Amino acid sequence: MALQIPFENTYVRLPDRLFTRTHPVPVKAPELLAFNHPLARDLGISGDDDIEELARVFGGNEIPDGADPLAQLYAAHQFGHWNPQLGDGRAVLLGEVKGRDLQLKGSGRTPYSRNGDGRAWVGPVLREFVVSEAMHALGIPTTRALAAVATGETIQRETTLPGAVLTRVASSHIRVGTFQALAARQDQAGLQALFDYACERHYPDVSDPLGFLKAVIARQASLVSQWMSVGFIHGVMNTDNCAISGETIDYGPCAFMDAYHPMTVFSSIDRTGRYAYAAQADIIVWNMAQLATALVLLMPDSDLAVEEFTKAIHAMPDLLQELWSQTLLRKIGIRNARKGDSELSASLLQMMTDQGADFTNTFAALGTDTAQDQFVDRDAFESWARTWRNRIEGEDDPYGVMRATNPVLIPRNHRIEQMIQAAVTGDMAPFSRLMQALSAPFDDTSEFADLRRPPLENERVRATFCG
Ligand code: AMP
Ligand code: MG
Ligand code: MG
Repeated sequence: MALQIPFENTYVRLPDRLFTRTHPVPVKAPELLAFNHPLARDLGISGDDDIEELARVFGGNEIPDGADPLAQLYAAHQFGHWNPQLGDGRAVLLGEVKGRDLQLKGSGRTPYSRNGDGRAWVGPVLREFVVSEAMHALGIPTTRALAAVATGETIQRETTLPGAVLTRVASSHIRVGTFQALAARQDQAGLQALFDYACERHYPDVSDPLGFLKAVIARQASLVSQWMSVGFIHGVMNTDNCAISGETIDYGPCAFMDAYHPMTVFSSIDRTGRYAYAAQADIIVWNMAQLATALVLLMPDSDLAVEEFTKAIHAMPDLLQELWSQTLLRKIGIRNARKGDSELSASLLQMMTDQGADFTNTFAALGTDTAQDQFVDRDAFESWARTWRNRIEGEDDPYGVMRATNPVLIPRNHRIEQMIQAAVTGDMAPFSRLMQALSAPFDDTSEFADLRRPPLENERVRATFCG
């Protein structure tokens, strides 16, 4: 084997009730769709130039040297409902490399598959590839995409679809739901082992559950405010899709908003809007409360723990509000808040809601003289803009702040959809072009002007699916 992956295999040393050793299920005709060579370099992977070998390994047909594959156990609250037994139903962790997980997703059934087929189709695999790499380029903590392999098999969803396997790289796949699974079983020893391992990997300065909770809260609050800054809607913020590391994880029916509205939802399974754009700031607090509840089992004095943990949870909404208002002010060029600023930014958002202004293009245009074009009622915008221009006069480099905060390019739903449709017919050119454009999302180049355009009526994607 030419491919060399310096595996560390640390999760496998945890108590074995946290996982089940299992292998990916081989596929019929693996074919490499995409490979992220720069990421492979970062991970110390070498010998990655034989595309047939890459297809065999990252399609799951060949176990790379040094891997010790396993499926992880976890539980979750899914849309608020407790599910004690989930786990990697269609994923296999090959092992850790330079402290990061290498996981195949869509790699066949595991002991945690329940009724699922263990597979994924090309659409969601390429969608996660593009969106997670775009998030990384936007500077937002996220899992990464290393490889996408077509399986040469079909899978059954609403229709028959071509299968694929994604190789995902994550700081870890430890979820709020991993802690919940052990706490629900009253498995104190297992929970302690997971806690020690998670601290060592993600929070080396933390040694107690309260410090851990506060550290995870800080990262998650920062993450959600960064999502909101770019109009990102995760779509399924169940507690299994909430990583202890603070990375964005599990790109399912996620989407970036085009027209701004705080209650925007794309996910076909989110019927009540539980995970709508603006609701994300509330739901993350709810998720952190579930983590706090699981951590109580680690505390000798559980009454005192409940009191302290509750305080930490109750402080989170203010923290989020503070982070989000700072971010929003930077989006309009203001570094240091003054009295009246929150009203100024709120009235812009209100106007955008009322007029269905494009979220990304409006903020990107604020620094130019075309911002009024984003509004039907240009006079209303102009009147707001006069107050705003007065306010940012004398600010330190407001246009630089805006350029660094407001991306020009996001992975718009309709472009992803078009990319998937092309890929299914064997045309990977739109994928490559999207990847190239989105690698520099703050650069305003005429070459990618078409990718900035919001969807036409007939291009609009109304719902996104889990895949
Ligand atoms: P998700 O909504 O993608 O976060 O998945 C929730 C749970 O369902 C996880 O335990 C997944 O492993 C499992 N799951 C999702 N899709 C499949 C599938 N096609 N086959 C088996 N398990 C699946
Ligand atoms: Mg086991
Ligand atoms: Mg998940």
